[in-house]
Amino acid sequence: MIKKDTIDKIFEVSRVEEVIGEFVSLKKSGSNFKGLSPFTNEKTPSFMVSPVKQIWKDFSSGKGGNVVAFLMEHEHFSYPDALRFLAKKYNILIEETQETEAEKQKTSEKESLFLINQFASKFFIENLFKKDEGLSIGLSYLKERGFSNEIIEKFVVGYSLDLKNDFFNSAIEFGYLKENIEKSGLIINNSKGIVDRFRARVIFPIRSIAGRIQGFGGRILSNKLNVAKYINSPESIVYIKSKVLYGIFESKKAIANKDLCYLVEGYTDVIQMHESGIENVVSSSGTALSIDQIQIIKRLTKNVTLLFDSDEAGLRASLRGIDLFLDQGINVKILVFPKGMDPDSFVRGRQKQDILKYFNKNSKDFIQFKANLLLKDSLDDPIRKSSAIKDIIISISKIPDLIQQEIFVKKCSELMDISEKVLFNVLEQEKNKIRFKNKRNNISKNSLEVVENISNEKKIDLEIVSLEKQIVHILLHYGKEEAFFDEIFLLHGENGQIIEESKIVKSKVYEKIFLDLQQDEVELINPLYQELYIKLIELYQTEGKVTIDKLIRNLKPDLSQIVSDLLLSDEIYELHNWDKRNVFVKEKKSLVGQLVSETILSLRKNLIDQKIKTLVKNSKEKKGLSNNPDFLSEVINYQNLKKLLSKKLNRVI
Ligand code: ATP
Ligand code: MN
Repeated sequence: MIKKDTIDKIFEVSRVEEVIGEFVSLKKSGSNFKGLSPFTNEKTPSFMVSPVKQIWKDFSSGKGGNVVAFLMEHEHFSYPDALRFLAKKYNILIEETQETEAEKQKTSEKESLFLINQFASKFFIENLFKKDEGLSIGLSYLKERGFSNEIIEKFVVGYSLDLKNDFFNSAIEFGYLKENIEKSGLIINNSKGIVDRFRARVIFPIRSIAGRIQGFGGRILSNKLNVAKYINSPESIVYIKSKVLYGIFESKKAIANKDLCYLVEGYTDVIQMHESGIENVVSSSGTALSIDQIQIIKRLTKNVTLLFDSDEAGLRASLRGIDLFLDQGINVKILVFPKGMDPDSFVRGRQKQDILKYFNKNSKDFIQFKANLLLKDSLDDPIRKSSAIKDIIISISKIPDLIQQEIFVKKCSELMDISEKVLFNVLEQEKNKIRFKNKRNNISKNSLEVVENISNEKKIDLEIVSLEKQIVHILLHYGKEEAFFDEIFLLHGENGQIIEESKIVKSKVYEKIFLDLQQDEVELINPLYQELYIKLIELYQTEGKVTIDKLIRNLKPDLSQIVSDLLLSDEIYELHNWDKRNVFVKEKKSLVGQLVSETILSLRKNLIDQKIKTLVKNSKEKKGLSNNPDFLSEVINYQNLKKLLSKKLNRVI
């Protein structure tokens, strides 16, 4: 982990306008800079950078945040990679937290392996383009496969000569330690002495999303028996098989732009697709994808199309992998090529447009795919059919989005000719199993219930979440302001009746919000707003104010995006040269007391609405409960509370 001090230093010296200026051409506009959105194809600039607040906002895509959020969004860096990029740009030495000697050594070992890999890649490229053997065997083979120089250079393909330890000697001569070269896996040290792992092979370097070389694949060109066609680097601290995706660096921009990722088997498939102009493609190196790999893709898109050759055993093996995609909320489609074809051979020599047309026409969703595969010539075997249906429903149960679940159940019903009702029942059973498992795994039951409520009571919830946003917005802008509030106290009169007494009190906005929500034990439903809410309240309580740059410096990217949204949402006026903004803000400030009361009351009212609905729903499920006096009095209590709140709301408005 990078030390907090280092992170602070990085944020201190990084200038959002300088960093973004490297990627987007910016023009000064008032106190801000503006430019064309790098995320859409727009003609009039709606991308804004605020040097004062050190944030950016893209009004055409809705994205925004601090400098790190920009690098993550634009360059698809991970959080630490974005920090490293900035550290390098501003010459800041990165210090890692609680580095024991062992950890320090690991960091420096990693760095030296990356350096050796980089050196090796340059060495192999030299061989390919400058040495006779490289040119006559390596390069001519690549040309024969249909790869152009441009694409060969893009993928930094190289060649290793047919010599015992040519690479090893050069690396030693260059000054690398034998021990480290061995750890990189580029050499093998055995009874025969030291030999290069890759000999007489075309070399495909494998790069991380940030472009660092993690390892290599090599293809032999001769037809020697007993020699594997492809070999790869062994695992090392920089090459962890379950975390690498071949082509991710070269394809990341296209994957994000097209909002789709094709997944293929190997190196030549990826390269051949790029050669055809289809650049949104990565390879899993022949195995089913791991969760880590899926998550790398998920940072770029939620749509994946698997391109398979038609080998039946391979297809069956892929079935399990599909559920993993669904589980991660990925929309997965499958395309199976005609017999004997793989992506490499299919796309070669075809026009890009024709290829894409074919892909679109023949991609199947996972239900069609599973149905085809599982039901092949067994449609009239009821036992096999029912087990296939169950299998499909299990897949559907993994999809986090309930609306999608429903669509797929309908589709399955049509395709399999089984009633929707039965399918929904089976789905419910499967989901219960998952819930039971989750419960056992100590995942809080409450969070599941909240998630369910969110989808069932969508309408109310959208309102609640937008009120939550409003609360954070108010805290951010007006938290430390003093305002007057109309408070209603309930007193017990002498005869036991309840007397309402109204009183005007003065307090700080953040105190009012905090006390009111605490009194009702309200937690915001949206976890991001909740996290931000707590941060803001903490800052007000400890420092009496919130300084924007101090706040934003320490926020995770998704939170910094929200803050910049809220801060800049008024500034869109500036973009259109409306200078009424000041008036607008002033008015807002004088009304702040009213705004706060109204927001909290509306939130309470909505929460009570939701509570009543849940109670009524439960009563319908448990027959007889609706006559239970306890239940009735609970509902009546809530309804009275709601009436009271509505009354208060009217008064405020
Ligand atoms: P050929 O010219 O005989 O078709 P190829 O180089 O196209 O050979 P295939 O056997 O068709 O290779 O395999 C297709 C893809 O699978 C290749 O792009 C390669 O990257 C990948 N592949 C095959 N074997 C391995 C392996 N052992 N390790 C990693 N990737 C492999
Ligand atoms: Mn092939």
